Amino acid sequence: MTFDSLGLSADLVRMVAEEGYETPTPVQAAAIPLVLEGRDILAAAQTGTGKTAAFVLPILDRLRAHANTSFSPARHPVRVLILVPTRELAMQVDMSVQTYGRTVPLRSTVVYGGIPLDPQIKALRNGVEILVATPGRLLDLVGQKVANLGQVEILVLDEADRMLDMGFLPDIQRIIALLPSKRQNLMFSATFSDDIRRLSGGILRDPSTVEVAPRNTAAEAVRQWVYPVDRDRKEALLAHLIRKDDLRQVLVFTRTKLAASRLATRLDREGLDAVAIHSDRSQPERTRSLAGFKSGEIRVLVATDVAARGLDIEDLPVVVNFELPWNPQDYIHRIGRTGRAGATGEAISLVCIDETDLLRGVQRMLKHAIPWTVEDGFIPDRSAEPRPLGARAGHARTSPEHHAHRKPVRRRAGAGSPGG
Ligand code: AMP
Repeated sequence: MTFDSLGLSADLVRMVAEEGYETPTPVQAAAIPLVLEGRDILAAAQTGTGKTAAFVLPILDRLRAHANTSFSPARHPVRVLILVPTRELAMQVDMSVQTYGRTVPLRSTVVYGGIPLDPQIKALRNGVEILVATPGRLLDLVGQKVANLGQVEILVLDEADRMLDMGFLPDIQRIIALLPSKRQNLMFSATFSDDIRRLSGGILRDPSTVEVAPRNTAAEAVRQWVYPVDRDRKEALLAHLIRKDDLRQVLVFTRTKLAASRLATRLDREGLDAVAIHSDRSQPERTRSLAGFKSGEIRVLVATDVAARGLDIEDLPVVVNFELPWNPQDYIHRIGRTGRAGATGEAISLVCIDETDLLRGVQRMLKHAIPWTVEDGFIPDRSAEPRPLGARAGHARTSPEHHAHRKPVRRRAGAGSPGG
C-alpha cells in the first residue's frame, strides 16, 4: 500500500514523502479513501497510530476548492471544526494541520482555555478555514460572537471517549446545535464503548466503521513526555519542575558543551546543586562530579551526548532532554539511562518551536507520538517564529559534539494542557 493509491492529490503525496512517511498506517489506509468520498466515519484509533494524518490529509483535499488568498475574513469562514478534549491535544493537532497543510493555502488556528482570549479572538477575526478547539473555550468565543460555526462542512471529534470522560457531552451537544445539519462527521475514539456508540448514533450519518489493531502498548519501562515551551523559558521551566516534583538525580542533556555549562551554572545559582560534565573537564573533575551525583550530593548533572557516553550511570528516575539531540538515535541512548529495575522511569523533553523537526524525527523513529503536557504558566506563544538551530549565540558551532544532521526548521512547534 502506498500513499499514491489512496486518492490524495500529488502535492500531499509529495509532502508526506518529505515527512519521511513511506507507507500509510492502517488507520490512514482505511480512513483516507472514505473521507475523500465524503463518508462519515467512526474510527477506533489511539494517539500514535497516525490518526491525525488520517483525517487532516483528506480534509485538506476536500477543502482545497475553497483555498484563496483573499484578505477578506468573509472569504475564510470556518469550514472544518476539530474538537479535542485537552489543550495538549489541541496544540498537537494544530501542529499537524500546519505541517500537513503547508502546501495548501488554507488558514488554521487553535483555541483552548487557560490562556488569554485576545490572540485567539484576533486569529478568528482574520478568518480561518480550519479551527482546532477544546469545547469550553470554543463556546466562550461563540458567546462573544467571534466564532461563527454556520458554515462548517466537516466536524471531527478527536478522542471522543476522553471528551465524554471529561464531561464535555453537554458542550458538544451545544456546539453541534450551532452547525449546519448537512455536514460530514468524523469521529475518533480509542474504544467503542456503549456511550461512544450512543454519541455516534446521534451525530454520524450512515458511518463506515474503521477499526485497527491498537499500536503496541506493551508496558514501556520509560514514560515519555514532551513539554512544549518557549525557547527562552526552558531554564525556568526545568527549575520549576525540579522543585515542584522534588526531582533528585536528574540527568539533563544538551546538544552542546556551552549549553551544558551555562545551564549548570544557572541552575546552581538558583540553589539547585548542578554540575556540567563534558569532554573539556579533566578526568579527576569528571570523576568527582559523577561520585557527587551518585551519592545524591549533586542534584542535577548536565551532559552532552558525547560526554554521557563514557559515564557509568543508569537506572535513574528521570532523564531530561533540555535540548533534543540532532540524531534521533541519541534520544534512545539518553532515555535508556532511566527506568530503575522493575520501576518506570520518566523521560521529559523540553521542546521549543525551533526543535519541531527534531521532535518529528524522534517520533518517526519511535513510530509513535510522544504525549504532550503543559505546565501552567509555561504555555508557549503560538505566534513565535522558529529560528534556525545553532545560529544563536551560545551554541558553539565548532564543538565536535555539534555536527551534521541539521535540517532547516519550517514550522512552528505547538504545545499543550487542560481543555476548557
Ligand atoms: P498520531 O497518531 O496522529 O498522533 O501520529 C503519531 C506519529 O506518527 C506522529 O509522530 C506522526 O508524525 C507519525 N506518522 C503519521 N503517519 C505516519 C506514516 N504513515 N508513517 C510514519 N509515521 C507516521
